[in-house]
Amino acid sequence: MEKNVNPVLQFVMQEIYKKRKPLPEIPRTVVRYEKVQDKIFSEIWFMTPGCAHDRNGGCTMCNYGKGNHVSPKEIACELAIRIRQLPKNLQELIITPTGSMLDEQEVPLEIFTEILGLLKHTTTSDFLIETRIDTVSAEKLELMKQTVHADRIFIETGIEAWDDWILRNCVNKNMKLKDLGPALNTIHHAGMYACANIGIGIPFLNERMSIKVAVTSVETALKMGFDSVVLFPYHVKPGTLSAWLWEQNLYQCCSLWALIEVLGTFPAEMLDKIHISWYRNYYDDPQKILLSPDTCDTCREDVLKLLDDYKNHPCQEVRGKLLSLSCSCRDIWKQKLLLQPDYVEMDQIAAIYRKMGHAFGISPNMVEQEIIYMTKE
Ligand code: SF4
Repeated sequence: MEKNVNPVLQFVMQEIYKKRKPLPEIPRTVVRYEKVQDKIFSEIWFMTPGCAHDRNGGCTMCNYGKGNHVSPKEIACELAIRIRQLPKNLQELIITPTGSMLDEQEVPLEIFTEILGLLKHTTTSDFLIETRIDTVSAEKLELMKQTVHADRIFIETGIEAWDDWILRNCVNKNMKLKDLGPALNTIHHAGMYACANIGIGIPFLNERMSIKVAVTSVETALKMGFDSVVLFPYHVKPGTLSAWLWEQNLYQCCSLWALIEVLGTFPAEMLDKIHISWYRNYYDDPQKILLSPDTCDTCREDVLKLLDDYKNHPCQEVRGKLLSLSCSCRDIWKQKLLLQPDYVEMDQIAAIYRKMGHAFGISPNMVEQEIIYMTKE
């Protein structure tokens, strides 16, 4: 796949990764539950050394985890227990490593096949894995198909924004959108479904622009052949560039109203394809997240409860309730939002790059060259 590397962001992210606190060795697996279609959604996470892209200077908002090497035997034993304890009648089951399930560097074939073997007595309506799009392979999809008992198998992948400039210069995703086509074909050829994760609160963009980009990204992803999308409002996690920018007052965590604003733009008949995730902080450990998307003390619980309802049933009825929620914090948020430009503010981004370059010891020459390149692109 064609790479789309921004050398300044890559350098900064490598430095941030070096200083990032590794995950504790325990727990090596975590299970969490939510409700979808009035049935059970379960996510099983397991420890790996972490995402290979992250180790090489990864995405600016991500700290999925700087993982530890674990013995395949131990992980398989723990996963066997977790899988055995799953309730019956699962609507959705997602098994996810600390990055990409189909990446051989992260989840070697031996562990992947072992996990598939553990699933032979499990049934679920939908089964999902998360993986970077450049790791999708027909062989591994075939292996899944032979073992997993599910009505539908989804390959969920982080797209974040359907815009190559933003992916390169704001997210550092190292991916070109034109490369998605072959991977989508491979997924569909295997009789599986493709799901795109779209972000809200992209670093270097103001909130209004981030909302606009999220809306276009959802529309384009569905038009280009993704079967569903999941909207993720970004939290500010320690050990990320978002956190550094936030500490410098150069980035603000998005509001939960931004998620509702995005949901409000689509025709009702599209909503069953537009899902939401991680609008709550599900971690028990308070050190995992510095700041989460929020509203205010008065309306927070009502907003979260309705978002849970939307997660359970993404439909017009719940969306209508979300759109008609009123709170003075929403009015203030909206007024501020409308003052922001709805375009990429290149001058501001260039100023942030210069500050970043200075703080991370990058030569001014390199930063200026990059700014010229970004401006022309
Ligand atoms: S968002 Fe995905 S691809 Fe990017 S660093 Fe995190 S796990 Fe890796």
